[in-house]
Amino acid sequence: MTLRTRFAPSPTGYLHVGGARTALYSWLHARKHGGTFILRIEDTDLERSTAESVNAILEGMTWLGLEYDEGPFYQTHRFPRYKEVIAQMLKAGTAYPCYCSKEELEQMRATQMANKEKPRYDGRCRHLTQPRPGVPAVVRFKNPIDGESVVDDLIKGRVVFKNSELDDLIIARTDGTPTYNFTVVVDDMDMKITHVIRGDDHLNNTPRQMNILKALGVTPPQYAHVSMIMGPDGQKLSKRHGAVSVMQYRDDGFLPEALLNYLVRLGWSHGDQEVFSVDQMIELFDVNNVHRGASAFNPEKLLWLNQQYIKTSSPEHVARHLSWHLSKRDIDPAAGPDIAAVVKIHQERAKTLVELADSVVCFYKDFNSYEEKAATMLGAVAEQHGMNMGKLAQPLRVALTGTAVSPPIDVTTHLIGKARVLARIDQALGYIEK
Ligand code: GLU
Repeated sequence: MTLRTRFAPSPTGYLHVGGARTALYSWLHARKHGGTFILRIEDTDLERSTAESVNAILEGMTWLGLEYDEGPFYQTHRFPRYKEVIAQMLKAGTAYPCYCSKEELEQMRATQMANKEKPRYDGRCRHLTQPRPGVPAVVRFKNPIDGESVVDDLIKGRVVFKNSELDDLIIARTDGTPTYNFTVVVDDMDMKITHVIRGDDHLNNTPRQMNILKALGVTPPQYAHVSMIMGPDGQKLSKRHGAVSVMQYRDDGFLPEALLNYLVRLGWSHGDQEVFSVDQMIELFDVNNVHRGASAFNPEKLLWLNQQYIKTSSPEHVARHLSWHLSKRDIDPAAGPDIAAVVKIHQERAKTLVELADSVVCFYKDFNSYEEKAATMLGAVAEQHGMNMGKLAQPLRVALTGTAVSPPIDVTTHLIGKARVLARIDQALGYIEK
């Protein structure tokens, strides 16, 4: 049997780094074992799902290079199938209609609380023999009453749940629409998923999902629950810790490989190696070695990795990503020197592509303002009579780039080109006179 994994985001916001890490682990696991990676959009929550968010997820996956072999599948396209399985379960007696009204359920709960019992559905409609025409019914799964549900989690180890603590889950609402845990089960079954790698916020759903799968006569997949990502302060990672959206990292000038490298290490390690190419990740990643505990997000380390990638990637590769940033600034890279050549003389020092873009604009676009501090140096230098090469280089640099920092002046001058260099010197002279 081929190994099959899936990434199953709910499109209720942007693709965040936690989701991207889960997607990466599922993708790596499939790639490593020659398996199939599936993208499934869990969009049944019609109120919270948006088309915008679906696009953000697809865009994020593409930018990260996590290509899927099947999908995207949309749960909203699969309602007839869910209906079919519900009918099948009702017929088999593994599910039953429940007519309890809201008031009745509240009453049940109040009684249980008064008796100091854990509030749960007591299964009273399990044994109904007659339907109640005209009364709206939900459909509940007939969860096993005795025994245990054991999750042999690839990351968390063995987690045991008592079946008596899992009450009869609603699988269809009164309007017939399926509930979340049920759609996941049907999809994992139909898509023949062998490994479910997901956030550990779903661990409590797992015994319920396994029980439904068993009732459907299917062997549950293997599960691997990945721990949460925390902010540097130990709280669950969120916006207030800084950027959490994958596309924000693109906009902030990160290379996708740097983010992938950062995410693979966040929760997994191989000796003390820090830098992994995507091929190395595929070779070395092992879901069994994912850390059990939570991991803390460290923006400085991500920035450091990004710098390493900008420095060591081929200029052509960096140039491709840099072009995107330049076009966002309405700069046409064709209006100047070969962008890879420009990258080559800058890539040593930039931490982000945004920084890189800042320092290369002068190669592509004329300007008429100068850094105040840098420009006043011209006056000081002009006052010096015995002018040497070093003193000439700096004013020239300011004239050509508008700033006090640039790569070596000879190659910078060469790449900007004679016509522009002369025009800029004239312009700078005019500035000084003024
Ligand atoms: N749709 C769920 C989420 O976004 C994931 C469900 C799963 O992986 O089983 O959290």
